[in-house]
Amino acid sequence: MSKTLLVVTAHPDDESMGPGGTIARCAAEGVRVVLVCATRGEAGKAGDPPVCAREELPRVREAELRAAAAVLGIAEIHFLGYMDGRLAEADEAEAAAAVAVHMAAAGAGVVVTFPPGGISGHPDHQAISRVTERAFHQARQAGRGLPERLYYWTLRPALMRDVFRREPVHPLDAAVTAEIDVTGFVETKIAAVRHHRTQHLSWERVFRGFPPQIRRTLGRETFYRAFPPADPAVRVEDSLWG
Ligand SMILES: [Zn+2]
Repeated sequence: MSKTLLVVTAHPDDESMGPGGTIARCAAEGVRVVLVCATRGEAGKAGDPPVCAREELPRVREAELRAAAAVLGIAEIHFLGYMDGRLAEADEAEAAAAVAVHMAAAGAGVVVTFPPGGISGHPDHQAISRVTERAFHQARQAGRGLPERLYYWTLRPALMRDVFRREPVHPLDAAVTAEIDVTGFVETKIAAVRHHRTQHLSWERVFRGFPPQIRRTLGRETFYRAFPPADPAVRVEDSLWG
């Protein structure tokens, strides 16, 4: 299978807050990781006290993402240039075509994106999940069977309750067919998260100062294989390449 992983997200910080440990581990093991990010996060907060003026947010968040990506070992970043908070209103076919171009150009073997409920329930996360799934099947049709696998980054129900204090938005947001041991990459992930300085309110709320029990939790990242369909009753995979 092609040793290229394509990660498709909605905002700068999704890659670090989400599957950051797995990205870092894959990169450390020689996988080429390419990131496609739909927006520059211009609708996000600027921090308290503000790290920058609101109008500087797209430029500052892009720089934060580039710094975090360097820590995680991401080789390439592509922005789709959509407006933060407006992705669900975008033409889905057009967005999927754009993502499919990146899948083909990267020669991606494995694609990772948000699950249908978007984990936090953010409409941009839900939209990029739909767009990526559509792009995946388009790219496969055109690309001699590449990409081969599509995974959603997920959170187990207990973790979902602990982090977001509610039930999963969609059952697949909490479904697990792969569990990756990223114990050795927790500090890398935390370092990447901390580069998103404008978003400190959000990661301070979620990770609560990274106490030992949160660090333990961060040592395992979970995924659901959307294609080819996986049967979790058979075996939980310990690699996205297994
Ligand atoms: Zn996001």
